[in-house]
Amino acid sequence: MTNVPTLDVADSPKIVLTADETMMSRFRGGMFVGFATCMPRGILPDWFFFRVWAPPVPRTNLRALYSDFGLRIVEASLAKEFGTDEVAVVHPHDLEKVVGSRTEIVAIGGHDFLGINPPTSEFVDLVDRGPPYNRVKFFELMQKPLMKERVVVAGGKAAWQLADEATMDKLNINYVHLGEGEITIPQMFKSILAGEELPRIVTGVSPRVEQIPNITGATIHGLVEIGRGCGRGCAFCTPNMLHVMHKPIDHIEKDAKTNAQAGQSSIILHSEDVLRYGTTGMVPDTERVLKLFTRVASVEGVDNLGASHVALASVYHNPELISALTDMCSSTLGQDWIGTQTGLETGSVRLLARYMKNKALPSSIEKWHEIATQAFGILDDNDWVCAATMINGLPGETTDDVIKSIELVDELKSIATKSLIIPMNFVSMRGSSLDSKETFTAKKMTPEHWQLLGECLDHDLSVVPQLLRRFDANGSGLIPGRLLEISVKRITNGLKKYVQAMRRGESPIGQREDSIWLTPKIPDLNGT
Ligand code: SF4
Repeated sequence: MTNVPTLDVADSPKIVLTADETMMSRFRGGMFVGFATCMPRGILPDWFFFRVWAPPVPRTNLRALYSDFGLRIVEASLAKEFGTDEVAVVHPHDLEKVVGSRTEIVAIGGHDFLGINPPTSEFVDLVDRGPPYNRVKFFELMQKPLMKERVVVAGGKAAWQLADEATMDKLNINYVHLGEGEITIPQMFKSILAGEELPRIVTGVSPRVEQIPNITGATIHGLVEIGRGCGRGCAFCTPNMLHVMHKPIDHIEKDAKTNAQAGQSSIILHSEDVLRYGTTGMVPDTERVLKLFTRVASVEGVDNLGASHVALASVYHNPELISALTDMCSSTLGQDWIGTQTGLETGSVRLLARYMKNKALPSSIEKWHEIATQAFGILDDNDWVCAATMINGLPGETTDDVIKSIELVDELKSIATKSLIIPMNFVSMRGSSLDSKETFTAKKMTPEHWQLLGECLDHDLSVVPQLLRRFDANGSGLIPGRLLEISVKRITNGLKKYVQAMRRGESPIGQREDSIWLTPKIPDLNGT
């Protein structure tokens, strides 16, 4: 941790932005280690988790040197309105040193405030050891006495979890902001500072692309947003609800430079399908995507590029684009692998047709099996390391649907040799078109679901050692990096004994009810 001077809090900014501790870590630079934010308490000692897995981001002058991208965008939007001195992104450990007599608003961003989104909910339910760290740390943050004395605004991807007045009252949250904030948050904060009345739950309006500001500080994992929305229209998906737009290359390059200048040499280009940068259709503009990667790779100080998400259909239909990106990253940056995430979702064409009928475009959905297997082959051949998610328990799912997924995973085991496959239980999330449906939990898992989970874990356990080697190769071989590696090995070894039983369709948790940790108990912080 950086040594920080104590400031005179009388000089404090009017607006302080923060997040819970799990969102304020670089997870030792490991993109996949970041999934640990979803870990339940009780697997590792807290002190070990927050020192070895998720140490706090470094800070300069009590400002977080790296932060979540969403907070950075809000910071930049507010700075345009109120000036840079009046807005600060602060680690929760430093709040008492920064929030002073001039501070009127504390705003909190979150991806999963209550720990109920996938994959947190699934980990918590299966492990049944304790509440998730993101929930624990969010409640800890809300309990700080200074929160009672300021106007508190919550926003970000998980804002929907807090958007009811009973929850807000218990947690002393004055306002919740839903959706995109570039336009609405500055207006909202202006009204708050002017003492005007406004609704407690505010829904943001989508900005035009030119209204999105450049970030002014570096981001965790060097995440740089290149576009929003998707357009494939999967029924369970919330990012899909956003209007599709892409930022100009100059804008993206500037955000990458801001990261590189702060020592963040690894950049993850972020959109729902990085391969469709610059187009609203389903056919990639390959020249534009290559130009984007090349421009960002040429930023001084950048030595590694990743893609937050790619669609398997885009990979399958454009293998030459994957090879061109691989060659460029290898020749320009000396990169020997590229990290990404994708949605494998299911092996059932019936479910795909019902909930994700555009997933395979420009091919028909009947080709999904071929698309998935070939796309993983292309990614593997090009040393793209992927975390692929599947969904268990979609509404109306049958045993036959799950068997189709098992068959697909079985085939992928020998093809996706560098990628993780992670089945996640369906969560009904407000804002998606399936938000009235029931969430799927471990107690509803059938032998086939256990078998699917077992096959995926069996595959993942064979991939983790090489991921650890790549992680080590990226310069984390110091003592904490070594401790992280040892603890990952211990966890994966511990899992091995359950995997064979799961592959036989046996539940390792017996016939129990949902974990008591699955549903958050919202503390009533009034008067405490
Ligand atoms: S392809 Fe992915 S991002 Fe696009 S709508 Fe489907 S789940 Fe959402």
